[in-house]
Amino acid sequence: MSGPASAEVVIVGGGIEGAATAWALTSRGVCDVLVLERATVGSGGTGRSSGIVRCHYGVRSLAVMAWCGVRLFTHAAEILGVPGGIGFERVGYLVGVGPRDAAALAANVAAAAGVGVDTRLADPAEVAELWPEADLGDFAAFAYEPHGGYGDAYRTCHAYLAAARRGGVRVRQGATVVRILTDGDRAVGVELADGSRIAAGTVVLAAGVWSAALAAQVGVDLPLRAQREQILLVTPGAPVAGRPVLSDLVGLQYLRPERSGELLVGNSDHSRPQWVDPDDYRAGADPDYVETAVGRFAHRFPGLPDVALASSYAGCYDVTPDYNPIISITPVDGLIVAAGFSGHGFKISVAVGELVADLVVDGDSSHPLIPAADFRLSRFAENAPLVSPHPYVGAGQMR
Ligand SMILES: Cc1cc2nc3c(=O)[nH]c(=O)nc-3n(C[C@H](O)[C@H](O)[C@H](O)COP(=O)(O)OP(=O)(O)OC[C@H]3O[C@@H](n4cnc5c(N)ncnc54)[C@H](O)[C@@H]3O)c2cc1C
Repeated sequence: MSGPASAEVVIVGGGIEGAATAWALTSRGVCDVLVLERATVGSGGTGRSSGIVRCHYGVRSLAVMAWCGVRLFTHAAEILGVPGGIGFERVGYLVGVGPRDAAALAANVAAAAGVGVDTRLADPAEVAELWPEADLGDFAAFAYEPHGGYGDAYRTCHAYLAAARRGGVRVRQGATVVRILTDGDRAVGVELADGSRIAAGTVVLAAGVWSAALAAQVGVDLPLRAQREQILLVTPGAPVAGRPVLSDLVGLQYLRPERSGELLVGNSDHSRPQWVDPDDYRAGADPDYVETAVGRFAHRFPGLPDVALASSYAGCYDVTPDYNPIISITPVDGLIVAAGFSGHGFKISVAVGELVADLVVDGDSSHPLIPAADFRLSRFAENAPLVSPHPYVGAGQMR
């Protein structure tokens, strides 16, 4: 049996961004869509996501996009038609900073509240009630988002695709795209590893960090690198289920509860990134990393003395030079890129899908607070990176 030989839109990559795009296209009436995934749906960065949902971004459009995510995740059962939901846990989101970053935190909270995000400053007494096991002494200020929390990127990715399929989208797994086909300076389809070709009116490249190699073949330079990130699962030795997500921008770590009662502990120190081959990197956490992470955790949580490492794994962020995504038309007509999510791609995925669908259908964003220009590929060549107006001195990685 042979597969389809053409589609109005071919999406390369069955991660959460490709899936959200497929669903958004059906909402725009574009249903002749084919998603091509080289392995299985959600098997890339999506399957390793920590799933944290927060709107605390200095870049306004990202805060708005994350807020779109909050609304979708909260009402996913109805909107996506998944009665069991997508695993979103609205436990709240807390971020704490040191003295040098207190003014920036207040500015970021005001800016986010100004575009409709439910966020506010929180005082130490309130935070101490939410996380009684924590030593909060070296924090100077906190922000709180009652609608934040964490979700399950893998389940959400499948839910987007289930909704997309109901709209007519086709999905092929085990379908590796080896080449984007062009006619002059226009993308006209893709070639698969088995030699077959699929014609397309538009090709959306949403293949995570692997997008760069495919784009390079047609002369499009995507500045993407794979940054290895290590995640620890710890047994806290005390009940912590339902506690809010905490971004500790002093200790440069983040953590959130798991439904199992464990805690997921991630790294927020990007001062010495580990650039790796995304197809060949160490899967578990390194012993020296575990030692550092355990030290940071112990400093923050003296009230959890019986913590023990349960397991660990590693994944890769697909990182751009400004740690913000590329959601953009390209110099090749009919080729649109959605890649380089740099560790933020879960929470903003629904807005990413809508923006890509807008680019496919209208060539521009339909959302006044999410300008397509923010995410244009050309910003790197123009030396005009997308940066926060209120960056953190002590935690530069928080965008
Ligand atoms: C450890 C970790 C923690 C994270 N934590 C968070 C978080 O807390 N909150 C948050 O918002 N985001 C987080 N993220 C980021 C978020 O998970 C990603 O930005 C998002 O999942 C990226 O989705 P994607 O669809 O762009 O890429 P991917 O999920 O990588 O999907 C790309 C897909 O393309 C396929 N592919 C590749 N090449 C080809 C080809 N030639 N032909 C066909 N298919 C191909 C791959 O197999 C893959 O399935 C985290 C990421 C990691 C790794």
